[in-house]
Amino acid sequence: MQFEVFTLLPEVFPSYLETSIIKRARERGLIRVDVHNIRDYTHDKHHTTDDTPYGGGGGMVMKPEPVFEAVETVLGLASPFDETQDTPPTRPTTASNIPVILLTPQGRVFNQSIAEELSRYPRIALICGRYEGVDERIREHLVTDEISIGDYVLTGGELPALILIDAIARLLPDVLGDPTGAEDDSHAMGLLEYPHYTRPPEFRGVKVPEVLLSGDHAKIEKWRREQALLRTFNKRPDMLEKTELSKADLKFVESLKSTDI
Ligand code: SAM
Repeated sequence: MQFEVFTLLPEVFPSYLETSIIKRARERGLIRVDVHNIRDYTHDKHHTTDDTPYGGGGGMVMKPEPVFEAVETVLGLASPFDETQDTPPTRPTTASNIPVILLTPQGRVFNQSIAEELSRYPRIALICGRYEGVDERIREHLVTDEISIGDYVLTGGELPALILIDAIARLLPDVLGDPTGAEDDSHAMGLLEYPHYTRPPEFRGVKVPEVLLSGDHAKIEKWRREQALLRTFNKRPDMLEKTELSKADLKFVESLKSTDI
C-alpha cells in the first residue's frame, strides 16, 4: 500500500517512519510512504504557501495553488476546473480510486472501522493542514474525504497523518510479525482487548491469573473472552450495544449486570 503525504513540514516524518514495525514494513516493501513538500510546488521567489484570510481575522490560510499542483502532479489527476464554465465542479469521489484525504478537526472521526475501510485501497493521499487550515476550494474541489483524529485541535495535520498510516499499516497482511496480531486488538472485534501478563509469574506479591499458567487453551480462551467483555462493560458499555455477541457472551454480560463489580 502506498501513502502519499502532502505537508509543509516533511522533516516531521522520518523519525517515526524509520522506527520499529513501520520501518520494517517499508523495508520489506509492504508499505511505501512518500512525503511531498507542498513548498516544492510554488513558483514565486519566496515559495509562498500561505496568505492572510479574506475578510480579516488572525492567522494564515494555506493557498490553493501549490496544494492543487502537488496533489494533481503526484497522483496524475486532471484539474477539475474547466475555464469555459463559471462554476467549477466538485471533484467526484470516484474521480480516481485514490482517496484524497484532508486531515481536519472537522472531518469524520477516525476509528478502527475507517482504518479497515482505508486499508483496502492500494494508494491514499493525505493532506496535512497548518495555520488556520486550507483554502476552502481545496476542501471543495480536490479532497474526497475529511478525517479528524478526535475532538481537539492540533497545530498541524502531520501527527494525524502518521496516526492514520500507523493504524492502517498494522492491518495489512504480513506487517505484524504475528499474522493474528491485530485480530484481538481493542476495537478490532468490537470489544476492548483482554488484559496481558508476562513473566515473572509473581511481581511484588501480585500473581498472574492461574488460568493463564494452566496450559489449557480452551479455558484460556474463555477467560480472555470474558475479560474482554468485562473490560468493555466497565469502560465502554456503548461498544457492547453495537457488537454482535454470542449467546454465551450475552449470558455473561447479563450476569455482570446483576453483580457488583
Ligand atoms: N482553524 C481550524 C478549525 O478550527 O477547524 C483548525 C486548524 S488547525 C490549527 C491546523 C491544521 O491541523 C488543520 O488544518 C488540520 O490539518 C490539522 N488538525 C488539527 N486538529 C486536527 C484533528 N483533530 N484531526 C485532524 N487534523 C487536525
